[in-house]
Amino acid sequence: MDEIAGLVERARGAQKGWGRLSFRERGEIIRRFHDLAIDRSDAVLDAIQSETGKSRRDALAELVTVAGTARYYLARGERFLAAKRKRGAIPLLTHSILDHRPHGVVGLIVPWNYPFLLSVGDAIPALLAGNAVILKPSDLTPLSAVLGKVLLEKSGLSPDLLGIVHGGADAGAELVRHVDYVGFTGSSANGRRVAVAAAERLIPFSLELGGKNPMIILKDAPLEQAAEGLLAGAFSNAGQTCISIERVYVESPIFDRFARLVADRTTALKLGWSRSFDIDVGSMIHPAHASKVQETIDAAVRGGASVLAGAKRRPDLGPAFVEPTVLSHVDRRAPIAVEETFGPVVSLHRVESRDEAVTLANDSQYGLNASVWAGGAAPALEIARQLEVGSVAINSTLMIYNAFDLPMGGIKHSGIGRRHAEHGILRYTQAQSIVRSFETGGGYDSMLGHVRSDRLAAAMLKMVRLWRRIPGIR
Ligand code: NAD
Repeated sequence: MDEIAGLVERARGAQKGWGRLSFRERGEIIRRFHDLAIDRSDAVLDAIQSETGKSRRDALAELVTVAGTARYYLARGERFLAAKRKRGAIPLLTHSILDHRPHGVVGLIVPWNYPFLLSVGDAIPALLAGNAVILKPSDLTPLSAVLGKVLLEKSGLSPDLLGIVHGGADAGAELVRHVDYVGFTGSSANGRRVAVAAAERLIPFSLELGGKNPMIILKDAPLEQAAEGLLAGAFSNAGQTCISIERVYVESPIFDRFARLVADRTTALKLGWSRSFDIDVGSMIHPAHASKVQETIDAAVRGGASVLAGAKRRPDLGPAFVEPTVLSHVDRRAPIAVEETFGPVVSLHRVESRDEAVTLANDSQYGLNASVWAGGAAPALEIARQLEVGSVAINSTLMIYNAFDLPMGGIKHSGIGRRHAEHGILRYTQAQSIVRSFETGGGYDSMLGHVRSDRLAAAMLKMVRLWRRIPGIR
């Protein structure tokens, strides 16, 4: 644990000079990293696949999203971070500046499901904002973050500016004791523990947590596309995505047709592990996690659920394969309908109206992402606005992750704070306000002190009333 304190200390030393560089100087390193990561894409994809068992496509999605994050903040970050003039305390006589200062050392504690994306992808805006970063990858996936560090160092980043702490929950908890900001991505239960630890130290934090993401399909929705969308939303990354679709509410008139479409297409998906791009669904992370997901499916079936596709373990393909699974007639109170499964499993529920769909979608402790499919934009938008979630994809499922100009994150037990967009870089800074008076006689500070008569006080109140009437001055 002394090692972690030492890493943070070295990072703190290195951050001083880094924070003083211009955005462009820091950006040059990230630009080189972007190009290097793409040039070495085979090595990056190999590292991701070798420690997760995911498909080559899912590994590519990580790399492409990291590259997109880098390009987005290289293009916009300087503007987001730039000091901005604000209205002064007294118009014309004073002026105000809003600046953004780096926290210092940012600790990023990340899970195993996107080990390159969630480590390096979140480190990029933190570094661009002038922080040093210490990454704590999952102990199941330590490799991709290390490769990210190597590529950043080859791009010119000083080794002390990006430290890596290996280990499990204890290492993460120790990191929280030393850093100036914590960005945690993981389960809601551990997010709560991290929040308590950060509160003890009064350091700021963000939490990107779990989800039980709903999809709503109205009776006039394009069914073929919705079925394709569901396959991507539920089975990408073997369902181990925080924004994966796990429950679908389908209007009754189209339920049977949609269920058949989804079942047929799911059964046709190609499972396996290969370095080629022709595999649809890869392995799950670990045999123990696969067993847990299989037990959840079996319990649902014992409770009366019907299997429309999948539902079997596939030891012939590897130790952690579970077939992409589609269920119906799932008890709405069963764990599979309520808790995050985090595997390739989706339940279809029949609903009699869009109101019922919205009510059921919102009946969850989570509020991360949702998907709505409808024939027209207006009803889909109306539903989107009623959903208690951080993001809604209309006629899509996972698109939010690549919509970099939109903040992404959850409400309820799905998190606090946002990545991406302006929020995703400003969270790594503290706002600093600077107010300046143009005249040097201490006028503003002593103004109230000069009010020594009723007449002056009345004149002052008159002035305040007058300001109220001048447009733009409140
Ligand atoms: P996890 O909570 O078990 O672990 C996440 C990380 O936190 C790991 O590095 C772990 O070692 C560390 N950790 C665990 N306990 C800790 C503690 N008390 N203090 C400090 N660090 C601690 O999560 P997981 O099983 O690795 O990942 C799956 C979860 O992550 C799912 O719930 C998924 O929804 C969530 N997730 C959320 C997002 C998002 O953006 N909202 C993205 C990916 C994954």
